[in-house]
Amino acid sequence: MAKPKVALYWAASCGGCDVAVLDVNEKILDVANIVDIVFWPIALDFKYHHVEAMKDESIDLCLFNGAVRNSEQEKIAKLLRAKSKVMVAFGACACFGGIPALANFTNRAGIFQRVYVEAPSNDNVNGTFPQTLTKVNEGDLELPEFYNDVLTLAQVVNVEYFVPGCPPPVDLILKVIDLFATGKLPPVGSVIASDKTLCDECDRIKEEKKITKLYRPHEIIPDPKKCLLEQGIICCGPATRGGCGLRCIQANMPCRGCFGPPPGVIDQGAKLVSAIASIYQGDNEDEIAKMVAEVLDPAGTFYRFGLADSMLKRKRLQQAEGRA
Ligand code: SF4
Ligand code: SF4
Ligand code: SF4
Repeated sequence: MAKPKVALYWAASCGGCDVAVLDVNEKILDVANIVDIVFWPIALDFKYHHVEAMKDESIDLCLFNGAVRNSEQEKIAKLLRAKSKVMVAFGACACFGGIPALANFTNRAGIFQRVYVEAPSNDNVNGTFPQTLTKVNEGDLELPEFYNDVLTLAQVVNVEYFVPGCPPPVDLILKVIDLFATGKLPPVGSVIASDKTLCDECDRIKEEKKITKLYRPHEIIPDPKKCLLEQGIICCGPATRGGCGLRCIQANMPCRGCFGPPPGVIDQGAKLVSAIASIYQGDNEDEIAKMVAEVLDPAGTFYRFGLADSMLKRKRLQQAEGRA
């Protein structure tokens, strides 16, 4: 019997999600035994034209990691969507925009200005920016169009499943492959992780006490048995879906929220702000203002992984209307 066909792709990604798949180590041989990998740019020498030549829906499962921030990524997302029966947003960037979507606090013009003009290592006296088309003697050189916004995969194509994490942990990757191979995938639209919050899975001692100061992780050595949030360290556990195996908590580090919002929560950042406000000892405006001032990087703290998928989606900028 023919083995199911699987494709893997990276878009606006750091490569960590692909490396996480390689991290299954010798079990990758088990995976290769049960599926036929037909496209995986980081590991195998398939080209786009090989995918274009495939029949629609001839790929059984596509694991797509990374957000969508340029025209090439959008084109390949649509191509793989057409060729795949099951499309999986794989990793925090594909699911929620992830770290790349923090760029939605600025826009294309702001990024180009910083990268190609202001960066100290630049020597760009003419202020030349990348062009989508450059004519040279040998022919036309093309670059993808860099969009104004970073988008989640589901904002570009229909997605059947979401596998969160930055990157998804190895045991979750193996679980997805197993669910797929045994025909036990959950209902379409499911997030394949826990249905609880991370706090629900965390067995640190919670004393329900108020805090009077917020600390950054390097400013304090936390008690490894007690709740980090109750020690004044911002931990995203109350606003984050469980299922990661408490990876950061076990290293005595706070959760940064890479599994995205738990069921029923639309905006992870707003939920986290609400959770912190509820345990902060602040009875007046001055004390609340002090708490806000203690969060040195509100954008990166509350929307580290989820800006593109949040209610905000992006910072409103005059120049940022439209995608290009
Ligand atoms: S989810 Fe994390 S590991 Fe995966 S591509 Fe994004 S930043 Fe990299
Ligand atoms: S806030 Fe963090 S440390 Fe505290 S219970 Fe939740 S996950 Fe655990
Ligand atoms: S503890 Fe939080 S940030 Fe760390 S892996 Fe789990 S969900 Fe991600």
